[in-house]
Amino acid sequence: MAAVRRLGELTVANSFAGLPADFYTRLATRPLKAPRVLHANPAAAELLGLDPQVLAQPEFLDVVSGTCPLPGGDTLSAVYSGHQFGVWAGQLGDGRAHLLGEVIGPTGPWELQLKGAGMTPYSRMGDGRAVLRSSVREYLASEAMQGLGIPTTRALALVTADDPVFRETVETAAVVTRMAPSFVRFGSFEHWAANKRPDYLRALADYVIDRHYPACREPAGGDPAAPYVNLLQAVVERTAQLMAAWQVVGFCHGVMNTDNMSILGLTLDYGPYGFMDAFDARHICNHTDTNGRYAWHAQPSVAQWNLIRLASSLRDLVPGDDALRAALGRFEPVLLESMQQRMMAKLGLADWRAGDEQLVDDLWRLMHESHADFTLSFRQLAHAPGLSESPTQRIREDLGTTAGPALTPFVDLFTDRDAAHAWLTRYRERVLAEGRPWQERAEGMLAVNPLYVLRNYLAQQAIDAAKAGDASEIDVLMRLLAHPCVVQPGMERYAAAPPAWANHIEVSCSS
Ligand code: AMP
Ligand code: MG
Repeated sequence: MAAVRRLGELTVANSFAGLPADFYTRLATRPLKAPRVLHANPAAAELLGLDPQVLAQPEFLDVVSGTCPLPGGDTLSAVYSGHQFGVWAGQLGDGRAHLLGEVIGPTGPWELQLKGAGMTPYSRMGDGRAVLRSSVREYLASEAMQGLGIPTTRALALVTADDPVFRETVETAAVVTRMAPSFVRFGSFEHWAANKRPDYLRALADYVIDRHYPACREPAGGDPAAPYVNLLQAVVERTAQLMAAWQVVGFCHGVMNTDNMSILGLTLDYGPYGFMDAFDARHICNHTDTNGRYAWHAQPSVAQWNLIRLASSLRDLVPGDDALRAALGRFEPVLLESMQQRMMAKLGLADWRAGDEQLVDDLWRLMHESHADFTLSFRQLAHAPGLSESPTQRIREDLGTTAGPALTPFVDLFTDRDAAHAWLTRYRERVLAEGRPWQERAEGMLAVNPLYVLRNYLAQQAIDAAKAGDASEIDVLMRLLAHPCVVQPGMERYAAAPPAWANHIEVSCSS
């Protein structure tokens, strides 16, 4: 176990600053007035090898509020471009993000980035700030995704201040310290392709390969374009797996623009995201996305579209289109394979048999038509009794109730109870045919189907408390969502379907 250190003792570098100067602007942050650490994340500190006691010290506040630079860092904001809602948007960049440097921790290098610490040359019409509301949402979501085992940027600290920020109404400012091995986006590549700088494109690709995808250089020798094709293929595969991971927990990103797509296949830039409550395949979590470009069902195909944009920006490095096309061709098989594996685990199937695809499709259709709660559907399926068990058997304690005939907690989630019952009968017969012990199946399912997810209303309650200076609800959620599949006594209300008022929460790009 590596020794824990204070901030000034951390080994800090900034490899991104070694790229050509046109990739970024060195600059200072613009501190907020009287900032306070509202919450700090010991799990993220541990990744850095940072002494958790430092989280309560003034030196920590100074860094995560943007008051002082990270000792040994080289603060900068990066340029990138991108396609927003399917349209080329030209130059964007870190309009409100400052890369403080890169901590070489016991688990590898982590870039530390402040979001909301003031204007940069890439701010365009923006004010360089982030409001508390969206900062709480980003802070919670990244750790909730981590708890679910889904690749994501992490969050180290949430800082709040009284500085007013003008959105639809006047809100207050906050700063989130994010961490990732790299914040390079698809749009970082698109930028140099659009600016006709193949030299810079190559420098960026080499940088990403050397630091994050060294296997792309193998086998050594031969075709000089091979590492770039391998890079594309690796990003295609990671992105396909990410999409499968999102889909099966009902996560909607909301703004899958190419500038929000991580080159490492991480969930990046949490804005108007949402975990679905009632399942609707066409669910749109972003109030601003009127056409539903980024609806739940569209996410995999949008990711594929974004990967095609990435591939076309690599054309200056790879002659002909065949190799790039072949790399892109990995998307569908990896997505389908990953979805299948995940659905098998979610349904507790030990193997994949003829007819399983239909069984799974019919469950999705049923959940969609009946607007069944996404999370509870899978969770209650685990608790449904086997064919050999008495239908009046009491289910195990999960949602704080032990009462009720065994079949109903699952069936009750569907408005069409008869159809749910008929599907459940098919499912029970399918599992019986497999010969696997019913309880063993249930245990496997309970280990992969979360009971607690970051529902919008839960995030909203944490925001409302945070606005009053109370971080306790953030703290509760951080602890709960770190282990989303484990029943935690006294936490029944966090597992419940949302209250009626939750239907009226609207999230938009405004942040
Ligand atoms: P997003 O889709 O929210 O990730 O943001 C798209 C672009 O707008 C990025 O280049 C952001 O840096 C920039 N941006 C968003 N909000 C602001 C803001 N308040 N001030 C400056 N730039 C912003
Ligand atoms: Mg963004």
